[in-house]
Amino acid sequence: MNYVGHPHLLAPETLLREAPTSPAEGRETIARSTPSLAEAAGDDEPRLLSLVVPFFNEEEMIGAFFSAVTPVLEAIDGVRFEIVCVNDGSRDDTLRMLMGMSNEDSRIRVIDLTRNFGKEAALSAGLDEARGAIVIPFDADLQDPPRIIPLLVEKWREGYDVVVAKRVNRLTDSFLKRESAAIFYRIHNAMCETKIPENVGDFRLITREVVDALKRLPETRRFMKGLFAWVGYRTAVVDYVREPRVAGRSKFSGWKLWNFALEGFTSFSTLPLRVWTYVGSFVALGAILYASFLIVRTLIQGVAVPGYASLISAVLLLGGVQLIGIGVLGEYIGRIYYESKNRPVYLIRSRYQSADTSDA
Ligand code: UDP
Ligand code: MG
Repeated sequence: MNYVGHPHLLAPETLLREAPTSPAEGRETIARSTPSLAEAAGDDEPRLLSLVVPFFNEEEMIGAFFSAVTPVLEAIDGVRFEIVCVNDGSRDDTLRMLMGMSNEDSRIRVIDLTRNFGKEAALSAGLDEARGAIVIPFDADLQDPPRIIPLLVEKWREGYDVVVAKRVNRLTDSFLKRESAAIFYRIHNAMCETKIPENVGDFRLITREVVDALKRLPETRRFMKGLFAWVGYRTAVVDYVREPRVAGRSKFSGWKLWNFALEGFTSFSTLPLRVWTYVGSFVALGAILYASFLIVRTLIQGVAVPGYASLISAVLLLGGVQLIGIGVLGEYIGRIYYESKNRPVYLIRSRYQSADTSDA
């Protein structure tokens, strides 16, 4: 097996409310203070696990997906499950195939969005629709091996609220994607107060309490990795190796990833805005020093030969710096503009679920 069961706590000082000494004890403290859905169901009743899966043009994946995932979920003891499939405006046969699956199995629910809203929105829709006491966002392309799911559940039983699955290596990603991801994490975490754990995607287990906390965050532009990190909670880590896509193509181009990274920076830091105060002061100070030098030199040596080169370079440099500054302002103002509209994150066209006939 190529995963390592290697749990450790992430930043425990920010996660604990009453500083319990062991995870199990922590769970009790929290459960007592805030009874969850899971608790309301009673201890003998199996807990409901919601697997939340966004689908965008994944017709080639659907057969393989359900035959890989369903047996794994069925094998987990003491847990019932539902698979919340969010169809994110697929233009291929995805919706029809999902409805077919859902017809045969009442545990498969389909949420059909009105158009393609993007993965972050689709995931938000799935989290809102999920009814489980524990929720696991999961990609349709089987890049995250389903066999890790029971390991996440096991950790949850030890008393964690969040169990993140961390890619120990990214050899299945291209060199460029790997390097740019590493640079992204470095810059993001240096810049933003909300640190996102490196090489952790959306694949993770979260409890009902965490889902409800996420729902309370009002922003409409949702950088889920950041939001997951922002809410905190007691977090465990399970390492795994990410597989190549089973079929179909990645939906994220270089340009989309770049914008995704900008979304991350601007959602969680105002440093790019504030830095211009310092750049400006620095440049202005340099200009004053240089001007004083010129004045003194003119006094001593008389009028010097006019310097076209120094003049034009100063103009170009300052012009460039100003344009960058304005561009950064634009990034933020654009986001304020979107947030101020207060539009919903997604729209649902319809929901499908077949009646449960298993008890009859
Ligand atoms: N996805 C989506 N809407 C989009 C793009 C992607 O719902 O606009 C889904 C896609 O179907 C898949 C998951 O998000 O289940 C991850 O996408 P992908 O595998 O293309 O991303 P990558 O693994 O390359 O980062
Ligand atoms: Mg993928």
